[in-house]
Amino acid sequence: MNMSRGYSLRRREFLVTTAGAMAGAVNSACRAATPAEIEEAAAKVGPLPRRKLGGAGREITVLAGAATWSADAVEAGIRCGINFWHKADEWERSSVPAAILKNREAHYCQVCVDRVRGNHETGVIDEEAHVRLVKQMLQQTGLRYFDDMQFHFGYHNVNELRNNRGFVRAFERLKKEGRVRHLCLSQHSYAGNSRVPGGENNTEILSAVAQEGVYEHAQFFYSYGESGPMDAFLALARRKGFGTIAMKTTRGAGRMRQDREFMKDFPAGTTPHHALARWLTTRTALDSAIIQINSLEQFVDTYSGAGRATRAADDRALEQMAAYANREVCRLCNECASHCRRGIPIADILRYERYAQDYGEGFRARVLYAMLDRRGDACTACGDCLPHCPQELPIPEKLAAAHRRLGKASAGG
Ligand code: SF4
Ligand code: SF4
Repeated sequence: MNMSRGYSLRRREFLVTTAGAMAGAVNSACRAATPAEIEEAAAKVGPLPRRKLGGAGREITVLAGAATWSADAVEAGIRCGINFWHKADEWERSSVPAAILKNREAHYCQVCVDRVRGNHETGVIDEEAHVRLVKQMLQQTGLRYFDDMQFHFGYHNVNELRNNRGFVRAFERLKKEGRVRHLCLSQHSYAGNSRVPGGENNTEILSAVAQEGVYEHAQFFYSYGESGPMDAFLALARRKGFGTIAMKTTRGAGRMRQDREFMKDFPAGTTPHHALARWLTTRTALDSAIIQINSLEQFVDTYSGAGRATRAADDRALEQMAAYANREVCRLCNECASHCRRGIPIADILRYERYAQDYGEGFRARVLYAMLDRRGDACTACGDCLPHCPQELPIPEKLAAAHRRLGKASAGG
């Protein structure tokens, strides 16, 4: 999340507010599944295959789970053998699945730890604050320990990785106390970011992290229709025994499903999420991936593709999806960032637009958007960024649309 976490008041307020509002929204939109329905969903998906996460000897399912899923999807995921839980710190004592608490050693629960005194661009690494925050999260969740301590959003550049060891020291202290076990990070791109002097691309930083060998695994943006430096990093990670988990993988699959024109010609026998799951788990060099879903039905549709080879219909679907995504969906590469003299955080805004449009998380998107120091309405449509977008997206129009969608007066509705 694009917010500070070490100063937990803001985060806690955010979580309490969003959790309440989201729960209300979800409850009013759909009823909770019955145990029999959860059982039936899990039977349709079946046991998920596992794969080594890097070279540290752990095996996780080829698709991981997330604490941000609906409770019934989490329950079905547990029955299908999902054992890695992203953002486990989002659970409260009252919402941690009983099956995980009962069989704690069978699950890897991850805590996301942000920079403090600012957001992912302006905040700092602070050993004491990170230690404090993880302890707070343990209190909040009742999980006893976190398996994976993740530096959320990652380093700004390789120099920071080499010379600022505060996060690693925080991990080592917590590990000695038995509160965390493995070190990982999620890594965004900061090259050209006006708020991050000296920022570098995620692939440069990830390659240095994998070479160094202190972190065990990483999460990063990766999806169909994209290639290049990230594939080179994946090859390096395999050689080094460094674990890889893709995130932000749907690349517009949510909006595709709602686009009747697009779905009219979509190959029969598959869906965008299902084809994506097959592709991620059989046609890439990833160890695992996370696909954002928000219902039991989506869990069945998506996770039933895990570990299964793509069929002709899936391959055709993926081609159509890539063409659509290239036209419509920002890949969050940040190539445009340094060319905007107004310092508009284009990739952040278009990431929040994804939350709203693809994940159905409009409230969360509006909260995050409201926290930006410059928003879509600051765009003067000068066009300076346009030649630098590899997808040739109409950035001013996208920003205006995002502002209309996300800039509604209050984040409270
Ligand atoms: S068109 Fe908008 S986003 Fe692009 S450089 Fe100009 S002000 Fe920045
Ligand atoms: S708008 Fe284009 S250049 Fe900017 S982050 Fe998105 S895909 Fe990359």
